[in-house]
Amino acid sequence: MAGEPQADCLFCKIVAGTVPATVVRETETTVAFRDINPQAPTHVLVIPKAHYADAASLAAGAPDLAADVLREAGEIAAQEKVDDHGYRIVFNTGAGAGQTVFHTHAHVLGGRGLQWPPG
Ligand code: C5P
Repeated sequence: MAGEPQADCLFCKIVAGTVPATVVRETETTVAFRDINPQAPTHVLVIPKAHYADAASLAAGAPDLAADVLREAGEIAAQEKVDDHGYRIVFNTGAGAGQTVFHTHAHVLGGRGLQWPPG
């Protein structure tokens, strides 16, 4: 069922605490943790605790939760002090766009110059 934990999902395991992560912020509905392979000085992932495979299915199935994730991305940028110089929120969606974990996550990237278009 939409939103239910998935036994084979790595990020559901991080939510459950059975896979370790460096958590930097947590709310009732979201968890934010440092990416293990950072692509910028600040690289934090914000995930909903509920399981939705990607950003579009999250927004369609639980719009309030999608808003929580976006708000938390902004809170992380402020907490990490990257909001002054600009930062990027990225939702890779689909394998062809580089999504490797099919539990919605916002990449919050900052602390260096960010080029456009992205690769
Ligand atoms: O957008 P994508 O699905 O590729 O992002 C998954 C991200 O999860 C990667 O940046 C990867 O480094 C990160 N990751 C993590 N901790 C894990 C496994 C993956 O931070 N245990």
